[in-house]
Order: sequence, then structure tokens, then C-alpha cells
Amino acid sequence: MRLVHKYGGSSVATPEKIMAIARRLAQLKKEGKDLVVVCSAMGKTTNGLIALARQVNPSPSKREMDALLSTGEIQTVSLMAMALQALGADAISMTGFQSGFITNAVHSKAFIKEINTQRVEQYLDEGKIVVVAGFQGITEDGHITTLGRGGSDTTAVAIAAKLDCPCEIYTDVDAVYRVDPRIYPNAKPLSRISYEEMMEMAALGAGVLETRSVELAKKYGVELYLGRTLEEGKKGTTVMSQQVFFEEMPVTGISIKEHCAIVTFRHMDYNAGTAASIFRLISRNNINLDMINQTILDGKVAFSFSCSDEQAAELEEALGREPEEKALVLDIRRDLTQLSLVGVGMATHTGVATRVFDTLARCGIPYYQITTSEISISFTIDKENKEQAVTALAQEFDL
Ligand code: ASP
Ligand code: MG
Repeated sequence: MRLVHKYGGSSVATPEKIMAIARRLAQLKKEGKDLVVVCSAMGKTTNGLIALARQVNPSPSKREMDALLSTGEIQTVSLMAMALQALGADAISMTGFQSGFITNAVHSKAFIKEINTQRVEQYLDEGKIVVVAGFQGITEDGHITTLGRGGSDTTAVAIAAKLDCPCEIYTDVDAVYRVDPRIYPNAKPLSRISYEEMMEMAALGAGVLETRSVELAKKYGVELYLGRTLEEGKKGTTVMSQQVFFEEMPVTGISIKEHCAIVTFRHMDYNAGTAASIFRLISRNNINLDMINQTILDGKVAFSFSCSDEQAAELEEALGREPEEKALVLDIRRDLTQLSLVGVGMATHTGVATRVFDTLARCGIPYYQITTSEISISFTIDKENKEQAVTALAQEFDL
């Protein structure tokens, strides 16, 4: 039976940890599993490489950054294959390029176009454990790319989708929690969560799984499991389709995104051209917008959206390069925290928003930009109020 395992950076941070995982993998192989093992870079290697680059160039090109960052994962997979070989297991490491990950050319945030798994499958058929470097691919014309921070999850799910097998993601947390236990220590773990909820939770700040990987799992129906590295028994969280999952509670969890900004363009004349020039500015800077909002008052338009602090700063720097942008009045509110309550139950339960904002009012916590989807309510608050707001909401919804 084919199976993809993925190990995160903290799980492979030391040679001892790599050896311990290798022992487990060798055992699984003996039990008859055909394993593809995707690894992240060891510990904080990726951050270390970013810092290293800055020492020779304050703003390195994205192409060279990708070439540099891809080396982190390559270290891990070759070490993992060596560790397996030391235990007598037949193993082979492969870079993203060797394992057939073809991506588009958007350096540092590349999308997978196709995966040519013939080689991986050939090695599996030969009885090898195939150890694949996460987070990386190559363009059609041979440039190395990376898939964005946390991208090894995407590598793992994509390969599982292609091989039509389950994907188990192993990390230093034992499950997906309803609320980040570092902020709310009484948070309950989830044994199951739907793809939709996991996608929203991940996109809205729950760092356990990368959003794109969940999106891919949903699209290709990949059975996805998240659990603690080397823990026996399936005590973690299974991500599954909504149809087989009945949730009576309206709210499944809260996710928390820090370092958010609200960017507002004020006092613009109401014509299609202004909005279009803002959108051009946004897309030229590759900004992921959240919460968009436009108000028209006395013929003047205010247009605002939320994004990360970092992206707001990039935007501020880029503004005014095009003539039609010169007149835009920009206003940025920085360092906010975005809270999102997520739950498929929201589609059928009414009154969730009332309970949320009553709770905040009771605590005297001001809130800004609000947005909702079928299964979530998000809003921003000042970061000083994060703990108090999360605790009050977690208690209100019994998370
Ligand atoms: N090493 C990369 C990162 O730190 C990719 C990953 O770990 O998933 O973002
Ligand atoms: Mg990760």
C-alpha cells in the first residue's frame, strides 16, 4: 500500500531526530508500506538561509533566493536517505526537480503545473523508500522555484494526489486545536475537521497546515492526517469531506492572524478608473487581499482592505510609480490582530455574529473591519486585546 509521510522542520531538526524517524520508516516498510517521505528543511534552516542572503545583498532577487532556499530541504532528504541506508533499508533521496515538480515561474510563491512521477513510481516499484525534498520545483525552462513558506505540506499532498494514496503530515503538535493552545491553554483538540473548515482555519492564521495543501487535498479527495511525529496510534486530526462529518456546534475553532494592516485609499473620485488603478497596484505587488470594503459618500469613494503588515509596507513603497496613483490618499493602520471564527455549523445556525459582538462589547473590546463567509466571521482588533478576546470567545462557544 502506498503512503506519503511528511515531516516538518522541527521534527527533523537534529541527526538524532532524523535517525528516530528513519527507524520508524524502516519498520513501516517491513510491514509492507510503499513510502514516499517528504521532508522540510532542518529546524530553522530556511530562516537562517534568508538571514545569510541579507548579509550579501539587502534585497536579493527572488530567483537566487529560491535557488538558495531549496538547498535546505535537499540537506534533509539526503541525510534521511543515508539514515535509512544505515538501517539496511533501501532508500533514495530526490530533489523537487528530480521528482518531477514542474511549476510556473512566480519565484518564492510558485504554483505546481504538473508532477511527472514516473521516476518516483519506478523507485517505489523497485522497493525503495523515496525521500522527496519539499517546497521546491523547477520551471519548464529550468529555473529552480519554491512554493511559498510552509510549502512542503503542498509537496506532500500533491504527490499523494498524484499517487492516489493517503497523506500523513507529522509535526511537533499532536493535533489541530480549536484555538491555539499557546493563547488559550484550555483549547480542545479536534479528531476530525472538514476540508472547508481546515482551509479557512489555515488561511485565517492556524499555522499547523499550509492552506494550499488543504485546498489540494480537498480538490483531489486526498485523505489527510495531521499528528505528532513518532506518536503511536492515530491520536491526531483527520481532515475529511464535509458530507461525512456532522458538527452540532456552530463554531469549530478560532484562528488568529497577527501583524495585519488595514490599508485605506480615501477621498477618491467615483469612477471606474480609480478602483482599477488600485487593483493594478495591488496585483503588481502580488498582494493577497483579505476583507475588501468600499464605501461611497457624497460622490467620494473610500476603498479599504486588510493584508499583512509586510505587504502594506511594500505597497506603500511602490505607490506613486504610475501617474494615476499620484493622487491617491493612503492611510494604513498597522499591527492589528485578525480573529476568525470558523465552523460549517454557521451556515445553519443563526445568531453567531450577535454572540460574537455581544461578547466583545461585554469585554469593552473595540473591533474594526468585519467580513463573513458561509462558514466564518472575521474581524480585526488591537493586538493588546488578543488574549482577552480569544479567551472570552473560546468560553462563549465552548472551544
Ligand atoms: N522550509 C520551508 C519553510 O520553512 C518549507 C516548509 O518547511 O514547509 O517555509
Ligand atoms: Mg509547516
